[in-house]
Amino acid sequence: MKKGLFPGSFDPFTKGHEAIVFKALNLFDEIYIGIGINSTKKYLFDTENRIKHIKELFKKYPNVKVGTYQKLTVEYCKEIKASHIIRGLRNSSDFEYEKSIANMNNAISSGIETIFFLSDEKHSALNSSIIREMYTNKADISPFVSFPNLLAKN
Ligand code: ADP
Repeated sequence: MKKGLFPGSFDPFTKGHEAIVFKALNLFDEIYIGIGINSTKKYLFDTENRIKHIKELFKKYPNVKVGTYQKLTVEYCKEIKASHIIRGLRNSSDFEYEKSIANMNNAISSGIETIFFLSDEKHSALNSSIIREMYTNKADISPFVSFPNLLAKN
C-alpha cells in the first residue's frame, strides 16, 4: 500500500493541483491532500470551504483523502503513514524552492522522500495567489478552479 501526502496551502485548490493528484494516482494507492494550517498566515478561503471543495473534486476517488495539519509536514507523513511527499513543479524557481524544502525534510526524516511531478504546459502559469487576486476583484475564476462556487462564503 503506497501512500503519498500532497501538502500545500491550497488557497484555493486549482486545476493545476488537481492535475498533479491525477498524475500521482498512477503511482500511489492512496493520496492524502494535506492542507497545512499556519497560525500566523491569513487565508482568503475558509478552511471548511477548502476541505468541502477538495472533497467534491475527488468524490469519485475514495483513495484520495483530505485533511488539515498544524505540524511539520514530515510529522504529518508519519502520522498518516505516508512514505512520500508529492509536490508539483511549474518552473525553475519552483524547483529551487522545492529542492531546499525536500532536502530539509529528508535531513530531518531520512525515510521520507519527495517526489515531483511537472505541471502540464497549460497549468504552468497558474498559481493560487493570482486566483486570490482575481477572486477578490470579482473576476471569473472558473477557467482555473473547478466548482468555484463551493469556495464562496455561506
Ligand atoms: P505551498 O504554500 O505549500 O507552496 P501551494 O498550495 O501554493 O502550497 O502549492 C502546493 C504544491 O502545488 C506546490 O508543490 C506547488 O509547487 C504546486 N503547484 C501549485 N500550483 C501548481 C500548478 N499550477 N501546477 C502544478 N503544481 C502546482
